[in-house]
Amino acid sequence: MMQDETEDAIAELHAMLDRADRIVSFTGAGISTESGVPDFRTAGSPWMVNKPIPFEAFVHSREARIEAWRRKFTMDDHYRDARPNVGHLALARLVADGRSPAIVTQNIDGLHQASGVPGDQVIELHGNGTYATCLDCGWRHELAAIRPAFEETGEPPACLMCTGPVKSATISFGQAMPQEAMMRAQALALECDLFLVVGSSLVVYPAATLPVIAKRQGAKLVILNREPTELDPIADLVIRAESGKALAPLVS
Ligand SMILES: [Zn+2]
Repeated sequence: MMQDETEDAIAELHAMLDRADRIVSFTGAGISTESGVPDFRTAGSPWMVNKPIPFEAFVHSREARIEAWRRKFTMDDHYRDARPNVGHLALARLVADGRSPAIVTQNIDGLHQASGVPGDQVIELHGNGTYATCLDCGWRHELAAIRPAFEETGEPPACLMCTGPVKSATISFGQAMPQEAMMRAQALALECDLFLVVGSSLVVYPAATLPVIAKRQGAKLVILNREPTELDPIADLVIRAESGKALAPLVS
């Protein structure tokens, strides 16, 4: 895309945002790479070195739990200092102004909440990597409390309430998608008038279906992503640009 075309597309995006009353943003890794959070699926990223540990293995194997926690804390060191960027702040502004009921995200980094969006207005399809929960009783555990004991003893963390296995609050390979989050995301897609994809390549289910649901019920569909996506042909507007650059006018 030529420079002028990109500028024109960004101007059109803001005209469409101005006309919309009920905007649902859908975000993926691309919005957070601008905050220094690595993309899972980028070749060479620390996420791609090892095969994922399936959920069943985590539940049944102490060794798998130890390996999962070792990897988890290693990865955390890569983006512990990540802060929301202008893209996050722009989407937070839409929520704060009452123009967007919620943000749906594939990200696990908590940066939408860190940008000021109330937790109940961030719908996390893949969970949240900034804390942990007990798989048996659901009790929340803070990573800062778990890590020192893990590094001292090498034992996988167990729940203080029920001794159940404690796992990062993300959705692992082989783990069921969170039902409530999925239902809320679908309901939002059904009632928005503008569905705004930011930094997602739209390949992972349900990412590929939500924009289609929105488009079919008559919403405008905008895809802002550095790379082409399979849904570009049905979008009303496609912008190939950094999300921060394209969204910056919302916060200036
Ligand atoms: Zn428990």
